[in-house]
Amino acid sequence: MNKMEQTDLKNLEAKIYVAGHKGMVGSAIERALTNQGYTNIIKRTSKQLDLTDKLEVDHFFATEKPDYVFLAAAKVGGILANNTYPADFLFQNINIQNNVIHASLVNKVKKLLFLGSSCIYPKHAPQPIKEEYLLTGALEATNDAYAIAKICGIKMCQAYAKQYSVNFINAMPTNLYGKNDNYHLEHSHVLPALIRKIHEAKDTGAAEVTVWGTGTPKREFLYADDLAEACIHLMKVYNSSDIVNIGTGEDLTINELATSISKALEYEGNLVFDVSKPDGTPRKLLDVSKIKNTGWEPKVGLDEGVLLAYQDYLQQINYSKMAVGNEALCVS
Ligand code: GDP
Repeated sequence: MNKMEQTDLKNLEAKIYVAGHKGMVGSAIERALTNQGYTNIIKRTSKQLDLTDKLEVDHFFATEKPDYVFLAAAKVGGILANNTYPADFLFQNINIQNNVIHASLVNKVKKLLFLGSSCIYPKHAPQPIKEEYLLTGALEATNDAYAIAKICGIKMCQAYAKQYSVNFINAMPTNLYGKNDNYHLEHSHVLPALIRKIHEAKDTGAAEVTVWGTGTPKREFLYADDLAEACIHLMKVYNSSDIVNIGTGEDLTINELATSISKALEYEGNLVFDVSKPDGTPRKLLDVSKIKNTGWEPKVGLDEGVLLAYQDYLQQINYSKMAVGNEALCVS
Protein backbone atom coordinates (compact mmCIF):
# COMPACT_ATOMS: atom_id res chain seq x y z
CA MET A 1 0.00 0.00 0.00
CA ASN A 2 1.58 3.31 -0.96
CA LYS A 3 1.50 6.51 1.12
CA MET A 4 -1.20 8.15 -1.04
CA GLU A 5 -3.56 5.24 -0.49
CA GLN A 6 -2.84 5.26 3.23
CA THR A 7 -3.74 8.91 3.64
CA ASP A 8 -6.82 8.99 1.42
CA LEU A 9 -10.05 9.25 3.48
CA LYS A 10 -11.50 6.76 1.00
CA ASN A 11 -9.05 4.37 2.63
CA LEU A 12 -10.65 2.85 5.73
CA GLU A 13 -7.20 2.58 7.34
CA ALA A 14 -6.54 6.34 7.17
CA LYS A 15 -5.22 7.62 10.50
CA ILE A 16 -7.90 9.89 11.93
CA TYR A 17 -7.68 11.90 15.15
CA VAL A 18 -11.03 12.84 16.67
CA ALA A 19 -10.29 15.59 19.20
CA GLY A 20 -13.01 15.65 21.85
CA HIS A 21 -14.28 12.09 21.34
CA LYS A 22 -15.91 12.01 24.80
CA GLY A 23 -18.17 14.95 23.99
CA MET A 24 -21.49 14.87 22.18
CA VAL A 25 -20.10 15.90 18.77
CA GLY A 26 -16.81 14.01 18.96
CA SER A 27 -18.47 10.79 20.13
CA ALA A 28 -21.00 11.07 17.28
CA ILE A 29 -18.15 11.52 14.76
CA GLU A 30 -16.30 8.54 16.21
CA ARG A 31 -19.47 6.40 16.04
CA ALA A 32 -20.15 7.42 12.47
CA LEU A 33 -16.55 6.74 11.38
CA THR A 34 -16.66 3.31 13.04
CA ASN A 35 -20.03 2.56 11.38
CA GLN A 36 -18.52 3.48 8.02
CA GLY A 37 -15.71 0.97 8.61
CA TYR A 38 -12.78 3.21 9.62
CA THR A 39 -10.34 1.23 11.71
CA ASN A 40 -7.55 3.64 12.64
CA ILE A 41 -9.20 6.28 14.85
CA ILE A 42 -6.96 7.93 17.44
CA LYS A 43 -8.52 9.21 20.66
CA ARG A 44 -7.25 10.77 23.87
CA THR A 45 -9.29 11.74 26.91
CA SER A 46 -8.63 15.19 28.41
CA LYS A 47 -6.79 13.43 31.26
CA GLN A 48 -4.45 11.74 28.76
CA LEU A 49 -3.94 14.87 26.65
CA ASP A 50 -4.65 18.43 27.78
CA LEU A 51 -5.41 20.22 24.53
CA THR A 52 -4.90 23.63 26.17
CA ASP A 53 -1.25 22.67 26.76
CA LYS A 54 0.88 23.44 23.72
CA LEU A 55 3.78 21.18 24.68
CA GLU A 56 1.51 18.18 25.20
CA VAL A 57 -0.29 18.78 21.90
CA ASP A 58 2.98 19.24 19.98
CA HIS A 59 4.34 16.00 21.42
CA PHE A 60 1.14 14.09 20.64
CA PHE A 61 1.07 15.24 16.99
CA ALA A 62 4.79 14.62 16.47
CA THR A 63 4.39 11.09 17.82
CA GLU A 64 1.07 10.07 16.28
CA LYS A 65 1.24 11.95 12.94
CA PRO A 66 -2.49 11.77 12.13
CA ASP A 67 -3.55 12.22 8.49
CA TYR A 68 -7.00 13.65 9.27
CA VAL A 69 -8.21 15.72 12.21
CA PHE A 70 -11.78 16.38 13.33
CA LEU A 71 -11.45 19.23 15.84
CA ALA A 72 -14.54 18.62 17.97
CA ALA A 73 -12.94 19.54 21.30
CA ALA A 74 -14.23 22.79 22.76
CA LYS A 75 -15.64 24.32 25.90
CA VAL A 76 -19.36 24.63 25.17
CA GLY A 77 -22.42 25.53 27.19
CA GLY A 78 -25.85 27.11 27.15
CA ILE A 79 -26.84 30.75 27.42
CA LEU A 80 -26.26 31.08 31.19
CA ALA A 81 -22.86 29.30 31.18
CA ASN A 82 -21.66 31.48 28.30
CA ASN A 83 -22.89 34.61 30.01
CA THR A 84 -21.36 33.69 33.39
CA TYR A 85 -17.93 32.31 32.38
CA PRO A 86 -16.87 34.35 29.30
CA ALA A 87 -13.17 34.27 30.28
CA ASP A 88 -13.12 30.46 30.38
CA PHE A 89 -14.89 30.17 27.02
CA LEU A 90 -12.46 32.58 25.38
CA PHE A 91 -9.25 31.31 26.95
CA GLN A 92 -9.86 27.56 26.67
CA ASN A 93 -11.25 27.59 23.16
CA ILE A 94 -8.54 29.82 21.74
CA ASN A 95 -5.85 27.66 23.32
CA ILE A 96 -7.35 24.36 22.16
CA GLN A 97 -7.83 25.49 18.56
CA ASN A 98 -4.47 27.34 18.32
CA ASN A 99 -2.62 24.27 19.58
CA VAL A 100 -4.43 21.72 17.40
CA ILE A 101 -4.55 23.79 14.20
CA HIS A 102 -0.90 24.83 14.42
CA ALA A 103 0.31 21.31 15.27
CA SER A 104 -1.71 20.06 12.28
CA LEU A 105 0.21 22.45 10.05
CA VAL A 106 3.60 21.54 11.48
CA ASN A 107 2.91 17.81 11.25
CA LYS A 108 1.48 17.95 7.73
CA VAL A 109 -2.06 16.82 8.47
CA LYS A 110 -3.77 16.17 5.10
CA LYS A 111 -7.06 17.70 6.11
CA LEU A 112 -8.58 19.23 9.23
CA LEU A 113 -12.20 20.08 9.98
CA PHE A 114 -12.92 22.86 12.48
CA LEU A 115 -16.35 23.44 14.00
CA GLY A 116 -17.78 26.94 14.30
CA SER A 117 -21.40 27.52 15.36
CA SER A 118 -24.56 29.29 14.23
CA CYS A 119 -24.36 31.43 17.39
CA ILE A 120 -21.30 33.29 16.08
CA TYR A 121 -23.21 35.04 13.30
CA PRO A 122 -24.36 38.62 13.97
CA LYS A 123 -27.24 38.88 16.46
CA HIS A 124 -29.54 40.51 13.91
CA ALA A 125 -28.44 38.68 10.77
CA PRO A 126 -31.13 38.39 8.06
CA GLN A 127 -32.87 34.98 8.11
CA PRO A 128 -32.15 32.35 6.96
CA ILE A 129 -28.46 33.05 7.62
CA LYS A 130 -26.16 32.65 4.65
CA GLU A 131 -22.48 31.89 5.11
CA GLU A 132 -21.43 35.33 3.84
CA TYR A 133 -23.18 37.07 6.77
CA LEU A 134 -20.35 36.17 9.16
CA LEU A 135 -18.72 39.34 10.56
CA THR A 136 -21.28 41.70 9.06
CA GLY A 137 -22.72 42.94 12.37
CA ALA A 138 -22.54 43.03 16.17
CA LEU A 139 -22.57 39.74 18.09
CA GLU A 140 -25.11 38.49 20.63
CA ALA A 141 -23.81 39.74 24.01
CA THR A 142 -24.59 36.57 26.00
CA ASN A 143 -22.04 34.52 24.02
CA ASP A 144 -19.69 37.04 22.44
CA ALA A 145 -16.58 35.57 24.14
CA TYR A 146 -17.29 32.09 22.75
CA ALA A 147 -18.12 33.63 19.36
CA ILE A 148 -14.88 35.60 19.18
CA ALA A 149 -12.89 32.45 20.00
CA LYS A 150 -14.70 30.44 17.30
CA ILE A 151 -14.29 33.23 14.76
CA CYS A 152 -10.54 33.19 15.52
CA GLY A 153 -10.49 29.45 14.80
CA ILE A 154 -12.24 29.92 11.45
CA LYS A 155 -9.94 32.80 10.51
CA MET A 156 -6.95 30.71 11.53
CA CYS A 157 -7.98 27.83 9.24
CA GLN A 158 -8.57 30.33 6.43
CA ALA A 159 -5.26 32.13 6.99
CA TYR A 160 -3.34 28.84 7.13
CA ALA A 161 -5.08 27.65 3.96
CA LYS A 162 -4.18 30.90 2.21
CA GLN A 163 -0.61 31.21 3.41
CA TYR A 164 0.41 27.54 3.57
CA SER A 165 -1.99 25.93 1.06
CA VAL A 166 -3.31 23.44 3.62
CA ASN A 167 -6.74 21.81 3.38
CA PHE A 168 -8.31 23.09 6.63
CA ILE A 169 -12.10 23.39 6.37
CA ASN A 170 -14.80 25.01 8.53
CA ALA A 171 -18.28 23.70 9.37
CA MET A 172 -20.98 25.85 11.01
CA PRO A 173 -23.46 23.65 12.86
CA THR A 174 -26.77 24.90 14.19
CA ASN A 175 -27.93 24.11 17.78
CA LEU A 176 -27.14 20.45 18.45
CA TYR A 177 -28.53 17.76 20.73
CA GLY A 178 -28.13 14.01 21.06
CA LYS A 179 -26.26 11.19 22.77
CA ASN A 180 -23.78 12.25 25.49
CA ASP A 181 -25.37 15.69 25.81
CA ASN A 182 -25.01 17.76 28.96
CA TYR A 183 -28.19 17.78 31.08
CA HIS A 184 -26.96 20.22 33.75
CA LEU A 185 -29.85 22.43 34.88
CA GLU A 186 -27.91 25.69 34.55
CA HIS A 187 -25.06 25.06 32.11
CA SER A 188 -26.75 23.02 29.39
CA HIS A 189 -28.53 24.10 26.23
CA VAL A 190 -32.29 24.44 26.05
CA LEU A 191 -33.30 21.07 24.58
CA PRO A 192 -31.47 18.82 27.07
CA ALA A 193 -32.40 21.22 29.92
CA LEU A 194 -36.09 20.96 29.06
CA ILE A 195 -35.93 17.16 28.75
CA ARG A 196 -34.56 17.00 32.28
CA LYS A 197 -36.91 19.59 33.76
CA ILE A 198 -40.00 18.01 32.19
CA HIS A 199 -38.92 14.48 33.17
CA GLU A 200 -38.35 15.58 36.78
CA ALA A 201 -41.66 17.46 36.89
CA LYS A 202 -43.49 14.36 35.68
CA ASP A 203 -41.58 12.19 38.14
CA THR A 204 -42.42 14.37 41.14
CA GLY A 205 -45.93 15.30 40.00
CA ALA A 206 -45.03 19.01 39.80
CA ALA A 207 -47.82 21.14 38.34
CA GLU A 208 -45.52 23.34 36.27
CA VAL A 209 -42.16 23.61 34.57
CA THR A 210 -40.18 26.83 34.36
CA VAL A 211 -38.92 27.78 30.89
CA TRP A 212 -36.35 30.57 30.70
CA GLY A 213 -37.06 33.80 28.84
CA THR A 214 -40.23 34.68 26.96
CA GLY A 215 -40.47 31.46 24.93
CA THR A 216 -40.60 33.50 21.71
CA PRO A 217 -37.01 33.11 20.40
CA LYS A 218 -36.75 30.63 17.56
CA ARG A 219 -34.11 27.91 17.31
CA GLU A 220 -33.16 25.22 14.81
CA PHE A 221 -32.06 21.81 16.17
CA LEU A 222 -29.90 19.16 14.53
CA TYR A 223 -29.35 15.65 15.91
CA ALA A 224 -25.61 15.17 16.61
CA ASP A 225 -25.39 11.95 14.55
CA ASP A 226 -26.64 13.89 11.52
CA LEU A 227 -23.94 16.51 12.13
CA ALA A 228 -21.33 13.74 12.33
CA GLU A 229 -22.40 12.36 8.94
CA ALA A 230 -22.22 15.88 7.51
CA CYS A 231 -18.69 16.41 8.86
CA ILE A 232 -17.41 13.14 7.38
CA HIS A 233 -19.15 13.98 4.11
CA LEU A 234 -17.41 17.38 4.00
CA MET A 235 -14.07 15.73 4.77
CA LYS A 236 -14.62 13.56 1.70
CA VAL A 237 -16.00 16.06 -0.81
CA TYR A 238 -15.32 19.67 0.24
CA ASN A 239 -11.96 21.35 -0.26
CA SER A 240 -12.27 25.04 0.65
CA SER A 241 -11.80 26.97 3.89
CA ASP A 242 -14.99 28.94 3.14
CA ILE A 243 -17.47 28.13 5.93
CA VAL A 244 -20.39 25.72 5.35
CA ASN A 245 -23.65 25.83 7.35
CA ILE A 246 -25.01 22.54 8.68
CA GLY A 247 -28.61 22.40 9.87
CA THR A 248 -32.13 21.29 9.02
CA GLY A 249 -33.33 24.59 7.56
CA GLU A 250 -36.34 24.57 9.93
CA ASP A 251 -36.87 26.22 13.31
CA LEU A 252 -39.50 26.58 16.02
CA THR A 253 -40.11 28.79 19.06
CA ILE A 254 -38.85 27.77 22.51
CA ASN A 255 -42.51 27.61 23.58
CA GLU A 256 -43.26 25.17 20.72
CA LEU A 257 -40.20 23.13 21.65
CA ALA A 258 -41.21 22.92 25.32
CA THR A 259 -44.77 21.95 24.32
CA SER A 260 -43.55 19.25 22.02
CA ILE A 261 -41.15 17.81 24.64
CA SER A 262 -44.04 17.82 27.17
CA LYS A 263 -46.12 15.84 24.67
CA ALA A 264 -43.31 13.39 23.90
CA LEU A 265 -42.73 12.76 27.63
CA GLU A 266 -46.50 12.71 28.32
CA TYR A 267 -46.28 15.54 30.85
CA GLU A 268 -49.58 17.33 31.39
CA GLY A 269 -48.52 20.23 33.65
CA ASN A 270 -48.15 23.87 32.65
CA LEU A 271 -45.24 25.79 31.22
CA VAL A 272 -44.37 29.05 32.98
CA PHE A 273 -41.91 31.56 31.59
CA ASP A 274 -39.20 33.16 33.72
CA VAL A 275 -38.59 36.46 31.91
CA SER A 276 -35.77 37.40 34.29
CA LYS A 277 -33.64 34.94 32.26
CA PRO A 278 -32.18 36.12 28.92
CA ASP A 279 -33.77 35.29 25.56
CA GLY A 280 -30.52 35.60 23.62
CA THR A 281 -30.65 35.96 19.84
CA PRO A 282 -34.25 36.24 18.58
CA ARG A 283 -33.62 33.79 15.72
CA LYS A 284 -30.71 31.98 14.07
CA LEU A 285 -32.02 29.82 11.27
CA LEU A 286 -29.31 28.65 8.89
CA ASP A 287 -29.53 28.73 5.11
CA VAL A 288 -28.41 25.18 4.34
CA SER A 289 -28.55 25.29 0.54
CA LYS A 290 -24.75 25.10 0.21
CA ILE A 291 -24.34 21.78 2.02
CA LYS A 292 -27.53 20.39 0.45
CA ASN A 293 -26.01 21.10 -2.96
CA THR A 294 -23.05 18.88 -2.04
CA GLY A 295 -25.46 15.96 -1.54
CA TRP A 296 -26.05 15.84 2.24
CA GLU A 297 -29.28 16.10 4.18
CA PRO A 298 -30.33 15.30 7.76
CA LYS A 299 -32.09 12.01 8.53
CA VAL A 300 -33.43 12.45 12.08
CA GLY A 301 -36.49 14.70 12.50
CA LEU A 302 -37.08 16.60 15.74
CA ASP A 303 -39.86 14.30 17.06
CA GLU A 304 -37.71 11.21 16.61
CA GLY A 305 -34.60 13.04 17.87
CA VAL A 306 -36.30 14.16 21.10
CA LEU A 307 -37.26 10.55 21.86
CA LEU A 308 -33.68 9.39 21.17
CA ALA A 309 -32.30 12.18 23.36
CA TYR A 310 -34.75 11.22 26.12
CA GLN A 311 -33.43 7.64 25.98
CA ASP A 312 -29.92 9.06 26.35
CA TYR A 313 -31.01 11.13 29.35
CA LEU A 314 -32.62 8.09 31.00
CA GLN A 315 -29.44 6.08 30.43
CA GLN A 316 -27.31 8.85 31.94
CA ILE A 317 -29.44 9.06 35.08
CA ASN A 318 -29.56 5.27 35.47
CA TYR A 319 -25.80 5.16 35.07
CA SER A 320 -25.26 7.84 37.70
CA LYS A 321 -27.68 6.08 40.07
CA MET A 322 -25.69 2.88 39.57
CA ALA A 323 -22.42 4.74 40.16
CA VAL A 324 -23.77 6.22 43.40
CA GLY A 325 -25.02 2.77 44.39
CA ASN A 326 -21.60 1.24 43.79
CA GLU A 327 -19.88 3.96 45.74
CA ALA A 328 -22.25 3.41 48.65
CA LEU A 329 -21.42 -0.30 48.49
CA CYS A 330 -17.70 0.42 48.66
CA VAL A 331 -18.10 2.80 51.57
CA SER A 332 -20.16 0.34 53.60
P1 GDP B 1 -28.58 29.88 22.73
O1 GDP B 1 -29.18 29.17 21.55
O2 GDP B 1 -27.15 30.23 22.56
O3 GDP B 1 -29.40 31.06 23.16
O4 GDP B 1 -28.53 28.84 23.94
P2 GDP B 1 -29.57 27.97 24.78
O5 GDP B 1 -29.83 26.68 24.11
O6 GDP B 1 -29.00 27.88 26.17
O7 GDP B 1 -30.92 28.82 24.89
C1 GDP B 1 -31.82 28.94 23.83
C2 GDP B 1 -33.08 29.63 24.29
O8 GDP B 1 -33.83 28.75 25.14
C3 GDP B 1 -32.88 30.94 25.07
O9 GDP B 1 -33.89 31.86 24.68
C4 GDP B 1 -33.12 30.49 26.52
O10 GDP B 1 -33.53 31.54 27.36
C5 GDP B 1 -34.24 29.47 26.30
N1 GDP B 1 -34.43 28.52 27.41
C6 GDP B 1 -35.64 28.21 27.97
N2 GDP B 1 -35.49 27.37 28.99
C7 GDP B 1 -34.16 27.08 29.06
C8 GDP B 1 -33.40 26.23 29.92
O11 GDP B 1 -33.90 25.58 30.82
N3 GDP B 1 -32.06 26.17 29.66
C9 GDP B 1 -31.47 26.88 28.65
N4 GDP B 1 -30.15 26.74 28.46
N5 GDP B 1 -32.17 27.71 27.85
C10 GDP B 1 -33.50 27.81 28.05
